[in-house]
Formats: sequence, structure tokens, C-alpha cells
Amino acid sequence: MDFKQMILEAGIEMQAKNLTIETWGNISIRDPESGLIYITPSGMPYDKLNEDDIVVLNPDGTIHEGKRTPSVESGLHTLIYQNRTEINAVLHTHPVDSSIFGMLRKPIPMVSDELAQAFGEEIKVADYALPGSKELAENAVRALGTNMACLLANHGALCVGRNMQECFKTASVLESQARIYYKALCIGTPVVLKEDDVAYMRDFALNKYGKTNQ
Ligand SMILES: [Zn+2]
Repeated sequence: MDFKQMILEAGIEMQAKNLTIETWGNISIRDPESGLIYITPSGMPYDKLNEDDIVVLNPDGTIHEGKRTPSVESGLHTLIYQNRTEINAVLHTHPVDSSIFGMLRKPIPMVSDELAQAFGEEIKVADYALPGSKELAENAVRALGTNMACLLANHGALCVGRNMQECFKTASVLESQARIYYKALCIGTPVVLKEDDVAYMRDFALNKYGKTNQ
């Protein structure tokens, strides 16, 4: 698989879906076979990137290949892969509505069936730390836990997936549901779903949805 090409396409998709602006955010993919991590370079416009600009990291975060400086958050991406062996794609986004909750440092509870299916547990906010710091990476990994996303305090969102397609689904569900939750909060008190119902829907989404009966 051409992982560098996948990163380039993900950069264009992230902008097209309004999941970030300008050069903010960063994207990585792990090759499950070699363990190498392909990541966006620091501070370059997504629509100007070519394959030579993508940096390849070893599993420990050291540079394996590449002429560019890797994303300032490469330590965060590396730490996620070290803690979550099933995860092979990470998107750090700066989307408007999800960021509102990170700014308020307010978690997003399971208030819709979509959230229950895509996440199965509350989306937490990582404690604040400066961008690119080891502390930010540690705080984010703690808030992420076994979930598919967390919010960074005063700084966008973090979404993961077993592959890039799932990662984008996670990011899109988070952002659309943050928008709905925000609007619901404006006019009333959203009802949080029962834990049992959330667990049922998450299990269905993971193990039964879209599968034919054998
Ligand atoms: Zn950021």
C-alpha cells in the first residue's frame, strides 16, 4: 500500500471536510506490517504537499526517512501507536464545533445513537499542555484511553481508527454530533443515553453492523 499517497489524500480530505484550517492539524498512518509511521511534515499547506514531504518514523519516534521536519505532534502520534496496537491511523483536527467543547473543557456525553455507535463512551477532554510537548502527548493518551477520540483543552480534537477510513468516520461523527449537542444545549438539557443502550449499540456497530448472516 502507498502510505505516503494515503497521507496526501487524507490532507486534502481533512480540509475539504472543514476539519481544520490552514496548516493546523496533523495526520499519520502506521504500516501494521513494518510498524513504520508515516506523518505530515511541520507547517506545510496540505494542498502543496507531495510524497517527498511525508516523513517516515520508526516505532520509537526517531526519523526513518524524510527531508522535512515531522509534525510538531509526532510524539503524540507515536505514543498513541505504542499504547493502542489496534490503531493504525491518527487525525489531529481543528474543527469548529468540537473545539468549542475543548475550549469549555466540557466532555461530550453519549447523547445520540451516532455517538453511541462510533464511540461507546464519553469523549473526554485532555488536561491542557503546550502544543508539541511531551505533557500534551501523555495527557491526550490518558484522555483517549480505549476510546476513538478525545478533545484537547483549548486546542482541537484527536481521532483514531483501525484504518484511515474509520478515522475519518470518527472525526466526522464527532464534529457533526458536537454541532448538534451545542445547539441542543442552547435550548434545553440534552438527555444522556442509558449505559446499557450505549453498550448495545457500540457492540452492534463493532461486531454486527453490515455483516451478512452466515
Ligand atoms: Zn493542533
